[in-house]
Amino acid sequence: MPRPILATIHPQAIRHNLQRVRSAAPDAKLMCVTKANAYGHGIERAFEGMRAADGFAVLELEEAQRLRRLDWRGPILLLEGVFELRDLELCSRLGVWHTVHCDEQIDWLAAHKTQIPHRVFLKMNSGMNRLGFTPERFRSAYARLNALPQVEEISFVTHFSDADGPRGIAHQLEVFMQVTEDLPGERSACNSAGALIFGSDERARNDWVRPGIVLYGSAPDYPQRTAQDWGLLPAMTLSTKVIGVQNLKAGDTVGYGSAFTADGPMKLGVIACGYADGYPRHCGTDTPVLVNGVRTRLLGRVSMDMICVDLTPAPEAGVGSEVVLWGRSPSTGTLLSIDEVAAAAGTVGYELMCAVAPRVPVVSD
Ligand code: PLP
Repeated sequence: MPRPILATIHPQAIRHNLQRVRSAAPDAKLMCVTKANAYGHGIERAFEGMRAADGFAVLELEEAQRLRRLDWRGPILLLEGVFELRDLELCSRLGVWHTVHCDEQIDWLAAHKTQIPHRVFLKMNSGMNRLGFTPERFRSAYARLNALPQVEEISFVTHFSDADGPRGIAHQLEVFMQVTEDLPGERSACNSAGALIFGSDERARNDWVRPGIVLYGSAPDYPQRTAQDWGLLPAMTLSTKVIGVQNLKAGDTVGYGSAFTADGPMKLGVIACGYADGYPRHCGTDTPVLVNGVRTRLLGRVSMDMICVDLTPAPEAGVGSEVVLWGRSPSTGTLLSIDEVAAAAGTVGYELMCAVAPRVPVVSD
């Protein structure tokens, strides 16, 4: 018998979430961000729910190759461009678009001997101060690129630092639009938060939106709004079973560090999931969990292979009962948002999805 832990990917939910972004950013083309193995969901599995995409955005050429193997012939953008000159050859062969964010990448293009010209997205650092040319240097970078016979088409991209936060996008968008105003080419600025919150503004959504997290069912601005508020569905369920039961009396403690003390008689379930499965160790007592579709809570510390949960709200539960760490209860359909679990660990849904361990078997429904 395999250990009863499982990650189930829901392509139907991804399909739904994709339509949700489309309706929030009408007329924009939609580039599904599938870097980090589709945020931990597996590119091949996620792709099933993304067939209606207009393009894909990835980090590594290997991810682009996997999409081509799935027979995706449309646009694929390398979000950080190439990391060395010799990557350009594979870009050409795969027909992959790539971001250009620094002078070195322009030097490599100039040195690339190719019959197949490149399509590039010139990146502006409009305020994030991560990758990209500053507004002051942007037009000279454009002029250099535009003079290269290796470059067939130039589009423009920037990334918002605070689309889901109090600063919003106004300043960065203004800089981006002003500097690129009279340059011919497509533009892309919005990630998930940008697309959901500002997608009704034609100037903000531009030609392409680049949603990632929202496709996987996480609210980009949690806790201001939840996935449910946005009408999003979880794309992944992490589930397991109860593998042991203990009956506690007042004063009994639970797990390492005796981090939880029972104040009266209670029934505790031990479940087959721990931090070696990717469940965050920073979650502790009171982190929500579903047992037989009923919401209950963790007790004490997360260990490597096990966690203890309170069975008081699900008194009929015993060894073999269904447990959902995040996602959707198969038996009742009850939802538990990954954002809520992430918040209990002081992190974000992105990290939890990407961290599901290789030892956890994955299926799609
Ligand atoms: N665009 C770029 C350049 C990114 O780096 C990312 C993710 O980090 C995205 C789009 C997608 O962001 P999100 O998952 O918040 O939608």
